[in-house]
Amino acid sequence: MKKNSRLSPETIAAQAAGQIDEKTGSVIPPIQMATTYARDENYERREDLIYARYGTPTCGQAENVLAKLEEAEDALFFNSGLSAAAAVLESLPAGAHIVVPENMYFGVLVWMQRQADKGYLSLDTYVPADLDSLESAMRDDTALIWVETPTNPTWAVTDIAAVSKIAKAKGALVLVDSTTAPPCTTKPLNLGADYAFHSATKYLNGHSDVLAGALSTNLIDDRWEDIGVVRKLQGTALPGFEAWLVMRGMRTLYVRWNKACENAIKIAKHFNDHPLVERVQYPGLPNDPGHAIAQKQMTGGFGGMMSILVKGSEQAARNVARNTELFLPATSLGGVESLIEHRFTIEGPDYGVAENLLRLSVGIEDADDLIADLEQAITRACG
Ligand SMILES: *Cc1c(COP(=O)(O)O)cnc(C)c1O
Repeated sequence: MKKNSRLSPETIAAQAAGQIDEKTGSVIPPIQMATTYARDENYERREDLIYARYGTPTCGQAENVLAKLEEAEDALFFNSGLSAAAAVLESLPAGAHIVVPENMYFGVLVWMQRQADKGYLSLDTYVPADLDSLESAMRDDTALIWVETPTNPTWAVTDIAAVSKIAKAKGALVLVDSTTAPPCTTKPLNLGADYAFHSATKYLNGHSDVLAGALSTNLIDDRWEDIGVVRKLQGTALPGFEAWLVMRGMRTLYVRWNKACENAIKIAKHFNDHPLVERVQYPGLPNDPGHAIAQKQMTGGFGGMMSILVKGSEQAARNVARNTELFLPATSLGGVESLIEHRFTIEGPDYGVAENLLRLSVGIEDADDLIADLEQAITRACG
């Protein structure tokens, strides 16, 4: 792969940015499992390698691919999404003020609240997608705006370019959790964000078999260096085998994504006017409140994540998730297999999730099979 050619991201992904094993010609780079690296004859480090907690060559190769897909100067892979989030927040001054969506990925929010309870952070929330609410949550000393778009589990779409403008005017940083809108459809840095964040456990890897997190940026400064230092000191770099699997996963990112988008829009349209369904939340539907911004910002499709609010009780909704045969009743998202989850069972009443909401992660199976499965499950539980 020639260095300076302007290749499309599909090509870069499929060929893992042209990284092969130079020594053997192996078209798949080998996994480097070593934890330590011998110095050369001058007692110098080779390629800056020293110890696996500081990162490994395989992790670096995965980072090369992601940086190219995000059109970023640099990227870092972590051993989970949560540890990537933790590294960013640890790089802020003690007690820094951050504003976060009131609905967002549950685990990250719970972790932030713990930090705030101990006084390490000061936290205010805004209504996702609502810029007035965001502005009123901000203070003069706000250090960071956390955006998650589309927002889990309602799939509200926040205008990244507009948030970035507000942030610039007030000197705050913007981080976009783009887990459910991978670079196939949204490149947050090109829209003005400072950091793009992913739980690479989800679409980037895509096979529900690796826990990983990623950050990318064009802001190469002391803070970015510090985020790397936190990763070293906490031992949260992505290990070799996992990095190798993520790199393999990213090779098929675009085809997986396109198929999931194609399936999801069919499912969303089918259940949008369904007698046993109150509402479908999916930014790809023209009647969805986030559709106009999604059209502008999700240029490569609306993804595989949606929620179906059924006509029925909490128990009826839970029964839908018990009745499906293809949609596996499991948490997580972004894999090739379709998943269904009754979020209220997980989050309880404190986080505003509707009792009748079922979150779907639509995979790459046949769309008609998936629709038939949901039909029978909803009819049995709510009919
Ligand atoms: C899964 C997820 C996370 C957390 O990532 P882990 O890899 O589970 O640590 C953060 N944000 C979103 C949107 C997620 O889906």
